[in-house]
Amino acid sequence: MKKTTLAAALALGTALATASTALAGGAKTEGIKVDLTRPDWVAFRNLYQQLVQTNTTLSSGSCTAAAQNIAAKLTAIGLKKSDVRVLVPEGRPKDGALAAVLPGTDTSAKPLLLLAHIDVVEAKREDWERDPFTLVEENGYFYGRGSSDDKAMAAVFADLLIRLRQEGFRPKRTIKLALTCGEETSDTFDGVAYLLAHNRDAVEAEFALNEGAGGRLDKDGNYLALEIQAGEKVYQDFTLETTNPGGHSSRPSKDNAIYHLAAGLNRLAAFDFPVALNPVTKAYFTAMAPVIGGAIGADMLAITKDNPDPAAITRISQDAGWNSTLRTTCVATMANAGHAPNALPQHAQANVNCRILPGQPLEDVRQTLIKVLDDPAIKVTAVGEPSPVSPPPALTPTVLDPVKEVAAKMWPGVPVVPTQSTGATDGRFLNAAGIATYGLSGMFRDPDGSGVHGLNERIRVRSLFEGREFLYGVVKKYAG
Ligand SMILES: [Zn+2]
Repeated sequence: MKKTTLAAALALGTALATASTALAGGAKTEGIKVDLTRPDWVAFRNLYQQLVQTNTTLSSGSCTAAAQNIAAKLTAIGLKKSDVRVLVPEGRPKDGALAAVLPGTDTSAKPLLLLAHIDVVEAKREDWERDPFTLVEENGYFYGRGSSDDKAMAAVFADLLIRLRQEGFRPKRTIKLALTCGEETSDTFDGVAYLLAHNRDAVEAEFALNEGAGGRLDKDGNYLALEIQAGEKVYQDFTLETTNPGGHSSRPSKDNAIYHLAAGLNRLAAFDFPVALNPVTKAYFTAMAPVIGGAIGADMLAITKDNPDPAAITRISQDAGWNSTLRTTCVATMANAGHAPNALPQHAQANVNCRILPGQPLEDVRQTLIKVLDDPAIKVTAVGEPSPVSPPPALTPTVLDPVKEVAAKMWPGVPVVPTQSTGATDGRFLNAAGIATYGLSGMFRDPDGSGVHGLNERIRVRSLFEGREFLYGVVKKYAG
């Protein structure tokens, strides 16, 4: 890693940490006044409700329907028809995207892109406490599939164009909005990849805001840190496969397709990839150390040093999120084997899902898997097209300063912390296409992950209200 970036990383992390006079254990900030009777909030809530209640799952929903609903709202408040498009891919009538523009006054200023996906992960009514496709407001939370991932940001961005248009705001820099499909099922179809290939003008921009980061609350609801995501790990599946002549199960031998695979997986279970911090993750731990404080905070600082203390690494790795920030991870997620209960298995297969640190070659990971599995009987194959790999976008003052300014007003004392997301977003396609993409929402979430991709997905009403105000403030500053 280049020395300069190291110094810059440490400076960045330290600057961000000190700037916020971080309180160990989080800031006891009230945040802004939440008024759910404000007419603009009521209008927003209606748009959000309509979006959450429009099923956009791959199995039975339509992104095109959701995009058309929002297009109608944007033209109804006066955006020109030519500035509002629903782009439906040929042969995929339900996978349409919304592309809208709020033109800027300064043609030399490059556009800003606001990106969110409107498709959601599947949800079965019988598994949920409430209907996943009805927006339910209860005990300070909104419940529903996509209430957090990612219809909160999609609704906020669409509503943001409406607010700016209605208040007659003339941005210097053109603001583009893209609400796309397929993010959750990108192995089938990905809306951002499609637009880059077929309607690049819809997403062409100097930089973009996307999902990928929010804010951290502790278990008592204290505000720990506001995150801005720059870069993400690369999603890659590998198939592990063993074959065997098989035979009658009454005459078993030790050479068994399932045993080979199982033993290999056990070795993988005990293996950890080496720690490899990069400028963003170094800045993350440097900034989080004073926030978390105590022994853990000290460990966080220790692991940013050259030749970090192995014991500190072991302790930090106990937290799944921090462990995944430190290193590439590979985990078995699916397995199937055998063809009959009374026959020795002729075939056994497992899927291993890896989340690869940006910049680490895919083949290196495959070779490491082969070495760890340590059994020539196990064939290791990368699944599908490798994801585009792109270095983390730089966290420049142009990007960071407005975030810090608005955050300081809304959540005094809460640090702004750079993160590298362990999950994948559509930002990978934009970054690889040269459009620097940052995860930023200003929406603080509970430590348990808020049911995203799981059951009873939710978002705090306060967090959505605050996120809406935060993004409104930041986007106005970016757009100038
Ligand atoms: Zn998402």
